[in-house]
Amino acid sequence: MRNGNNNGDEFKVLNDEEADQAVSYSRYLSPLVSNGRDFLLTPTGTQVKVSDLEGKVIGIYFSANWYPPCQNFTPVLVDTYEQLKSNNIGSGFEIIFVSSDEDLDAFNKYHASMPWLAIPFSDLETKRSLNQRFDVEGIPCLTILQPSNNNKDDDAILHDGVELVYRYGVEAFPFTKERLAELEQKEREKHEKQTLTNLLTNQDRDFLLGQPMAKQVPINSLISKTVGLYFSAQWCLPCVKFTPKLISIYQKIKQMLVGKGGEDFEIVFVSSDRDQISFDSYFSTMPWLSLPFGDPAIKNLAKHFDIRGIPSLVILGPDGKTVTKQGRNLINLYQQNAYPFTEARVELLEKQMDEEAKKLPRNEYHEGHRHELTLVSEGTGGGPFICCDCDEQGSGWAYQCIECGYEVHPKCVRAVNPGPTVDR
Ligand SMILES: [Zn+2]
Ligand SMILES: [Zn+2]
Repeated sequence: MRNGNNNGDEFKVLNDEEADQAVSYSRYLSPLVSNGRDFLLTPTGTQVKVSDLEGKVIGIYFSANWYPPCQNFTPVLVDTYEQLKSNNIGSGFEIIFVSSDEDLDAFNKYHASMPWLAIPFSDLETKRSLNQRFDVEGIPCLTILQPSNNNKDDDAILHDGVELVYRYGVEAFPFTKERLAELEQKEREKHEKQTLTNLLTNQDRDFLLGQPMAKQVPINSLISKTVGLYFSAQWCLPCVKFTPKLISIYQKIKQMLVGKGGEDFEIVFVSSDRDQISFDSYFSTMPWLSLPFGDPAIKNLAKHFDIRGIPSLVILGPDGKTVTKQGRNLINLYQQNAYPFTEARVELLEKQMDEEAKKLPRNEYHEGHRHELTLVSEGTGGGPFICCDCDEQGSGWAYQCIECGYEVHPKCVRAVNPGPTVDR
């Protein structure tokens, strides 16, 4: 009997021939082989001996083609992998795909989009035991094994490879604790040095585009204002839906600040539009400033602020330091009251919201849903959600139908009487 929990002991149950193979590679590679299989597959189906991986840092990639977060992450990982391979350092790295695809066909198609190896789809037992061995709770998951550690110390196995690749890309290699401590230190220094000017200028540009007709506005004119960096694009539907809301709140904040002794707010559009024409047409709807289309600062900002999806609104304080990357969420929750987006402001708003929520009915019927909804908060089954009414993010208080997974902002509820026909 094999047990699913791979460790060095299991080799005593292998036959002689297998035992010979078993000694030909280090212990850290042993979870990758199974009884009778000592190879992995390339995307074209060629076999590669597990022993060929000796001495490499191994990323075990748990993923499935049908799941959107995996679909989003795989190209990012491919890009990182290929950059590493084009450098010499990449020869010390390999990734092994462990599939949760529905069938062989789906696996083959998905594996074809990856330049690395895979556990054969049919080896259910190894796939199951890898999931158990590395406590995989959700996908995508990238677990990193170090050859030097040889799985002696479970603490040295990194489980948050996905997060690290998103955050640092190739810089994360070789994924050791020491490397990560170095990167965190660098990150801290970078944010300490952050100013509005070094974020927004480049060598030959010290201006932004303003309205009307994309006139040039000096970046210096933004110094000591609260500034929102709005990452958005016209091809992105949630962006196109969010922009009018942001415009209306921007105008309300500007109005609120009239006569407030120099305190001011501005937004800068950071475009990921695909061509000048869509940029021009999208920017012409916005009342604020913009970086020029395709400016090199755009990529740097996205990387600097670790932007994973759009729309996204990063808020900088009057000193040019980051106040919050949750601008979009705060606008959705608190509208113009979110200004100036500081921790103190958000704490106050949360308290107010808790007070107000106490006065709300525990249960409510909402026009958009046939079942009774229950008021929940972070502590009572709530948490971050997407509002089924306005399609925007929410957190904290919500009205929820737990069976349907239906959640709405309290402000989005249009209360209706259940009426006598409703089945309670
Ligand atoms: Zn809503
Ligand atoms: Zn329901």
